Amino acid sequence: MRAPERVVVVGASLAGLHAARTLRAEGWTGSLTIVGAEPHPPYDRPPLSKDVLAQEEEPGLPRLPLPAGLDARWLLGRRAVGLNTSERRVTLSDGTGLDYDGLVVATGSHARTSPTGRPTPHGVFTLRGWDDALALRARLGAGRSLVVVGGGFLGCEIAAAARARGTAVTLVEAAEQPLTRALGRVAGAYVAGLQGEAGITVRTGIRLTGFRTDADGSLSAVDLSDASSVRADTAVLALGGVPATDWLAGSGLLLDGGVCCDPFLRALRGDGAPAPGVVAAGDAAGVPYAVADGARVTTGHWADAVAQGAAAASTLLLGETAGPYEAVPSFWADLHGARFRSVGLPSLADEVEVLEHDVARRRLEIAYHREGRLVGALTAGRTSRLAAYRAELTAMPRSVGAANW
Ligand SMILES: Cc1cc2nc3c(=O)[nH]c(=O)nc-3n(C[C@H](O)[C@H](O)[C@H](O)COP(=O)(O)OP(=O)(O)OC[C@H]3O[C@@H](n4cnc5c(N)ncnc54)[C@H](O)[C@@H]3O)c2cc1C
Repeated sequence: MRAPERVVVVGASLAGLHAARTLRAEGWTGSLTIVGAEPHPPYDRPPLSKDVLAQEEEPGLPRLPLPAGLDARWLLGRRAVGLNTSERRVTLSDGTGLDYDGLVVATGSHARTSPTGRPTPHGVFTLRGWDDALALRARLGAGRSLVVVGGGFLGCEIAAAARARGTAVTLVEAAEQPLTRALGRVAGAYVAGLQGEAGITVRTGIRLTGFRTDADGSLSAVDLSDASSVRADTAVLALGGVPATDWLAGSGLLLDGGVCCDPFLRALRGDGAPAPGVVAAGDAAGVPYAVADGARVTTGHWADAVAQGAAAASTLLLGETAGPYEAVPSFWADLHGARFRSVGLPSLADEVEVLEHDVARRRLEIAYHREGRLVGALTAGRTSRLAAYRAELTAMPRSVGAANW
């Protein structure tokens, strides 16, 4: 297979930057163009829900380090709006056409917005990017009140950071505990305990139904499904992400959640064949995982975006000789002084094995099984324990004949 002469990376962030870095690290000398919708240079998102919100001092942009010798043409503040896979051309919002031999789709995801379907009033936020984080942090502190809608990791981190700044915080979650969908009830109850200790009001089994406003149109309260309402000047919708693949509508790529990829991270067309020269990585990509019996998963995890970016670039250079993508999903989050880490896909479990549960010492170890087979693990304060779980998940044989491969 011939290496591409021109590579276009759409998405100037984590996965895109790691794809670009890998191309150069492999000695590739072709022309590299990186397109990013945001005006900012590449930056890291995890600090946005942690230090950027929690610290009193004015934060600086948490820039991702650019490798020396990247030699890229940066087109920032410009959005890709179309892709023609037969002509191998990306169209940008300003009408520019970019021809490519190799294309990396790394456009991440958007925050899911209002579940009520109605426009949200002033004072209601989502958190995905730097500008969102600055706008939200300006509303936090003593004397302010915040409702966080959604008790996934992002919502829990926002609640913790806002509380650390003295904000009165209510967390609203539809399931019976925060984090239940991702990690089950034991981990959810553990985190709910930490939230209670921190002075966060946790309201579970309840949904947002609407917003109330002052005469000037600003948020005054959040209405909930049990007919109660919570007074608040600020609300954050932390309802998960939607892969940013809108610009690929009409491209012929198979989009189901994210860009559907084969095990080499090649983007598939509607007919099931890989689109020539197109790979995808990160939060925009649906990737087949052995731990999910080959089903495609968009994990939304930092480490997976890094690993997929690198693997997608190798596929562009080497084709199938690069080998299939086999990394095990992994994730971390910081909550109330504990670092939570997971490997695998705990959400697949039908059985949970609690090996350690010590709230006072901020320790937790849970193994997740499905049909008697390990599918994931979670620790808090026990990072060293993860290596064994990772090794077991890595050694797992691929499920030959799995439907999505
Ligand atoms: C607040 C926050 C905290 C997080 N904390 C953690 C954590 O603790 N642990 C963890 O494992 N993961 C965490 N994550 C998830 C992690 O940051 C993501 O998995 C990672 O950023 C994905 O990288 P990506 O490059 O695929 O997408 P992104 O980082 O979203 O980058 C995609 C880029 O593409 C751009 N783009 C979108 N559409 C277009 C277009 N049409 N044209 C051009 N450019 C476009 C976007 O503007 C963006 O800059 C967090 C995410 C957020 C938002």
